[in-house]
Amino acid sequence: MYTLKLLSPAIDSFAFKGEEVSNLSFIILNTSWVNLRFDYDSVIRVLEFKKEVRARIESVLDHGAIMEASSDWHAKRNPIPCGMTIHTGISCDFGCLYCYIYDMGFTGKPKPYNLSGLQLVYALTVNPYFTPGVHGTLLAFGSVTEPFMDNTLSRTLEYFRSLRDYLGNPQQVSTKAIIPDNLIDDLRLSVDPDISILISLSTLRHADKLEPRAPPPESRLVFASKLIKRGFHVTLFLRPIIPSITDREIKDILDKASSYNIETIVTGTLRVTPRILKNLEVSRVVDINQLKNRIPENLKPRVQEAIKSSDLKSHIIREAEKRGIRILPASCSANIDSHRQACAACYMGPCGLEEKLPEVDEEGVIGACKALGVRVSQVRIQNNIVNIKCIDKPDKCRVLKHLIISLARRTPKIKITS
Ligand code: SF4
Ligand code: SF4
Repeated sequence: MYTLKLLSPAIDSFAFKGEEVSNLSFIILNTSWVNLRFDYDSVIRVLEFKKEVRARIESVLDHGAIMEASSDWHAKRNPIPCGMTIHTGISCDFGCLYCYIYDMGFTGKPKPYNLSGLQLVYALTVNPYFTPGVHGTLLAFGSVTEPFMDNTLSRTLEYFRSLRDYLGNPQQVSTKAIIPDNLIDDLRLSVDPDISILISLSTLRHADKLEPRAPPPESRLVFASKLIKRGFHVTLFLRPIIPSITDREIKDILDKASSYNIETIVTGTLRVTPRILKNLEVSRVVDINQLKNRIPENLKPRVQEAIKSSDLKSHIIREAEKRGIRILPASCSANIDSHRQACAACYMGPCGLEEKLPEVDEEGVIGACKALGVRVSQVRIQNNIVNIKCIDKPDKCRVLKHLIISLARRTPKIKITS
């Protein structure tokens, strides 16, 4: 059971407006709304909350730690469609042949990310594109490492705790690793209780060749079933779909996943570089001609290109439907689903419980722009698209764009005319 006692790594409670409150109460008080409306008040509330958290952390970290956090990547980067990726470590030694992190320059022994949990929270509070709170920017842990590897796990747990206790944003993690039984309770006590866990799998038969040092796929599914029994929201992440491998095995993969009580899947496209293409060719298990037909002709070194895979996805969706498995359109959709929220921030939505979509109208959006200090000349809402003529500096218009994605959970179409 999730209790207040377990919440904080560093500060269990603190004074807010003269009253002693717990971290969780503080987050709920400031970021959780029933029938949220995107307007002046909600934006002011978010900005004040962000400032308050930043001030709290400044009071406990020394100057050097603050400077390091402020110059970190997490303090500057725009969230990507699945949310803000959180780096819990650098590099990975599972050696998957299709992995693109080695083209991004990550080599060598994996190690935990350099920031402490509090520093990471601080970095996010200075990032202008990040919206804190239960209804804020989605968080995706992993990205350039495997978050549950032996040498990154404790940093990952620290980050889960710090971000849950200080910011409250919806958490998601994708993994191929397996946490030993005796540490699953630590995981439960560290994470956002509604965390979305994605178990990655591309093949049952050829993992020894394609993912040489990752745990066997069957063990990942056993791990998934243990998590489900403990009440976690678990989704099978069929990523990457490897042509001639994943599509041929899909019936077995889905039957096996169902037998372990997995009820939702997300698919993901393979991205290739010349190095990845060569790796897959050398593996001798991938039909390389079929793969080559799906990629642009002139691959450039280190540049990732998504392969054409809509037919493969359609095939997987048909097979999943036959088995009553729910298909979610993207990883962020699983995050929204596990948090019982709603989102219509892109053409693939709306996702989640539509009745939970924040209320958005033109008057509210104009108020939100005012609260943010961004000048706009026109606001028009059509279905779930918020069309705005932004007459301010491009970086301020960009902040507005990300706020519409995260807090209004709508699709922004912003024309910058400054
Ligand atoms: S587990 Fe993930 S990060 Fe590690 S090598 Fe495989 S794809 Fe890359
Ligand atoms: S609408 Fe769905 S797929 Fe699109 S950003 Fe939102 S959760 Fe993700």
